[in-house]
Amino acid sequence: MLRIVNLHAKLRDEDKEILKGVNLEIEKGEVHVLMGPNGSGKSTLANVIMGNPRYIVTEGDIVFEGNSIKDLPPNERAKLGIMMTFQNPYEVEGVKLSQFLITAHRRIHGEDKNYLELRKELEETAEKLGLDKDFLERYLNVGFSGGEKKRSEILQSLFLRPKLLILDEIDSGLDVDALRLIANLIARLNEEGVTLLIITHYKRLLDHLKRIDKVHVYVDGRIVTSGGPELADEIEEKGYSLEGVR
Ligand code: ADP
Ligand code: MG
Ligand code: MG
Repeated sequence: MLRIVNLHAKLRDEDKEILKGVNLEIEKGEVHVLMGPNGSGKSTLANVIMGNPRYIVTEGDIVFEGNSIKDLPPNERAKLGIMMTFQNPYEVEGVKLSQFLITAHRRIHGEDKNYLELRKELEETAEKLGLDKDFLERYLNVGFSGGEKKRSEILQSLFLRPKLLILDEIDSGLDVDALRLIANLIARLNEEGVTLLIITHYKRLLDHLKRIDKVHVYVDGRIVTSGGPELADEIEEKGYSLEGVR
């Protein structure tokens, strides 16, 4: 489904290379986990897969379902079914969460469902996350608590139904109950066919997932080691320096 080949990328405004040759292959339905120290370029990788214009790909390719997406704008990538949740979601004054999500849904999935149908679906999805109707009428992320921002990101994922979902530190700053709820919803999304790339520092999210195909250790702009779920235990125990041990 996703094939990343020798991907190099830098900031548009600076010469600093952040991605230094990433190689990654994810098959449809799989769950991959990317773990690495702060500042190693994990969020940058997610943003470059989405096509954030702040970054420029200087070498390599990103192939989704057999076609290169490297030169497509972010909205085209979203239409293909790729989505990321943000580690630090943007606040958008003046745009209601409900308005944003229903518009996005129609742009991505077409207009066969009318506003009322989508509205009902959105309310039902919000309920699963313990978010009430009023929450949907608040401006996107404005004044949301840390936990509400994370729930809002998951609401977007459940409602917009991407084919490939990249979760960037969806588990940071969540209490135990919120973590369990969100982990279960993520697991269900995968059972329903959504392919996952999970970026995390912590094993605790992974403990709730039934399926993990691969864990990748990511240091300084590239994947240095890959393995099964047991690699996450090893990282928890020894830290990211384990790549030096191998
Ligand atoms: P991680 O998600 O692994 O913590 P990031 O991708 O956020 O790492 O950052 C990798 C490096 O690139 C850091 O040194 C960070 O400061 C820098 N960086 C990433 N995006 C930007 C940006 N938009 N502007 C300036 N520096 C950035
Ligand atoms: Mg970070
Ligand atoms: Mg990050």
